[in-house]
Amino acid sequence: MSQACTLAVVVDAPQHSALREALSYLSDTAWPAGTLVQVPLGRRMVCGIVWPAAAGDPEPGVELRPVAAALDTLAPLPPHWCELVSFAASYYQRSVGEVALGAVPPELRRLDNKQLALRLKRLGRLAPPGGAAPVWPDPTPEQAVALQAWREAGTQPALLFGSTGSGKTEVYLRAVADTLAAGRQALVLVPEINLTPQLEQRFAERFPDRLIVSLHSGLTPAQRLRHWLAAHLGQADIVLGTRMAVFTPLPRPGLIVVDEEHDPSYKSQEGARYSARDLAVYRGRLEQCPVLLASATPSLESWHQAERGRYVRLVMPTRIGGGVLPTVKFIDLNHVPRAAAHHEALTPPLLAALGQRLERGEQSLVLLNRRGYAPVLHCLECGWKSGCPHCSAWRVFHRADRSLRCHHCGYTERVPRACPDCGNADIRPVGRGTERLEEQLAEALPGARLARIDADTTRAKGALEAELGRMHAGEVDILVGTQMVAKGHDFRGVTLVAVVNPDTALFSSDFRAGERLFALLMQAAGRAGRDAAQAARSEVLVQTWHPAHPLYQALRTHDYEAFAASQLAERAMAGLPPHAHLALVRAEARTQEEAQAWLRAASDLAGSAEGVTVYPPVPMSLQRVANIERAQMLVEAAARPALQRFLAAWLPELHGLRGEHRGLVRWAVDVDPLAI
Ligand SMILES: [Zn+2]
Ligand SMILES: [Zn+2]
Repeated sequence: MSQACTLAVVVDAPQHSALREALSYLSDTAWPAGTLVQVPLGRRMVCGIVWPAAAGDPEPGVELRPVAAALDTLAPLPPHWCELVSFAASYYQRSVGEVALGAVPPELRRLDNKQLALRLKRLGRLAPPGGAAPVWPDPTPEQAVALQAWREAGTQPALLFGSTGSGKTEVYLRAVADTLAAGRQALVLVPEINLTPQLEQRFAERFPDRLIVSLHSGLTPAQRLRHWLAAHLGQADIVLGTRMAVFTPLPRPGLIVVDEEHDPSYKSQEGARYSARDLAVYRGRLEQCPVLLASATPSLESWHQAERGRYVRLVMPTRIGGGVLPTVKFIDLNHVPRAAAHHEALTPPLLAALGQRLERGEQSLVLLNRRGYAPVLHCLECGWKSGCPHCSAWRVFHRADRSLRCHHCGYTERVPRACPDCGNADIRPVGRGTERLEEQLAEALPGARLARIDADTTRAKGALEAELGRMHAGEVDILVGTQMVAKGHDFRGVTLVAVVNPDTALFSSDFRAGERLFALLMQAAGRAGRDAAQAARSEVLVQTWHPAHPLYQALRTHDYEAFAASQLAERAMAGLPPHAHLALVRAEARTQEEAQAWLRAASDLAGSAEGVTVYPPVPMSLQRVANIERAQMLVEAAARPALQRFLAAWLPELHGLRGEHRGLVRWAVDVDPLAI
């Protein structure tokens, strides 16, 4: 090898998790940054990406190894893509290689030039949806104003705050049309693409002659590669995807939309725990491309940015067609006969409201955010409860297959015939989940056509679509479900949304629980009265022990702004996000003592930093999962840069701690955690 040059290459090497930077390799060709290569690492051959960093000086005496092959028939990943990945890695405290390789389709990492040529040839099979010329409805006055303001905002991020049913999608569709007309690509992020086949279809109807691809975990590896290539090579004009799609390389980016931007599923819960919403905003700035965030209940972070003038706020308070928002009423469980309040999910006023809908041939939605039949089985004789032997949690009773299942570790057993402790045959379900609620509804309202949507009923492929289809076709009178039914669905016939008992979140130790509950209830309420003709008699009924709680009062008047103002004031007082910046360091070990000992040792290495507080370790609220004890330690800073500097200096030190802590299983850091 004459003329050899040195290249910086990033690789995903979990066993070298302390390796945060690029490695140096020799090459006889100066492959441009963003080129995929095969390189030797230890005894293995791994996929890497040539990185736009200066290759470090090799240590004296260390012989550099050569790049084995380059996938040079693929256009290199663009410089902005590399910059986005580098930022995400440094911000979320992971190695660049892990984030970079995690962001390209797994299939691609295995290909050579010959195999790639075959895949590229097959790209020709992707085609626009085709169909009739689209009909564009005239925008409502509010939509027109929002669009105008969005166009004037240029590349400043915009927050579209529109009530449920105000036609936010119509605004994205027109923003996308602008983008395509300018010869650019649009990236549209949605929280769960499986729940929004309607959105995909609407894009296909409006843009019949444009190539639209999706990117989400439901695709086969081959599909994912094909769609990714179409986006990267600029053939696809519109990319619809879940959080992973924020890393899609686009040669002509023109718009990033983040639909339901408050949704927690935008935050990854493993590996690099990135927020796709926050990265979308960063990416917009990097690529000088507008970002449109949208929600009826924006995250308090985004709302705060709009209040400070960092984001342009676009407001659409009115429902399309003049439909009013449903009336929110509370069933005060304190005033319901005691036995009914404690033991029945279905109080007399709730049953009466459901019965009324049945008579009128209207649909109802009953929301209970807990699946299974009952959260726990209980022996009346000795007090035994169906705990999980491996977790600090109860095993849930599933009646359909008579199993006791742990929703955390998956441990499943058949329901015992008698109490395992005392042999008493009278063991009973305590509390209720969606499965039991469905059964109780069937008993109370014979003749009602029921359906249930939760993680249990929708496991089989196509099951969710089938149930939603029945609901849309009017073949269901009452739909029971978890939060899955609250998101985004456009149920035309629903005039009653009942929420069985959402109180627990009011008293959670997690400061975001209230924000999540409010968003869920507003979303659920938004399912009622979407048909303007029925809107006036649409109702939301919330069964609660605390009807006077400020959160419920804000819900009663559909007043997100009042809710946000009070929450932000509380958070300012308490020094919580968005007024402060947090990171959580989590440790998992064989015993709680070991987990906390590791965290204390980590804390000792932290030293002191101006404006940064490291709190003492505490057990996590779900302390044990699958026989692993879990503890965490909160790091808080008033300013983001201070937190970033602190973490960057501190975390690399922690890799060396493992040797002295044999009981430690793993540790991780979560920057801007969603749940604490
Ligand atoms: Zn017993
Ligand atoms: Zn378990």
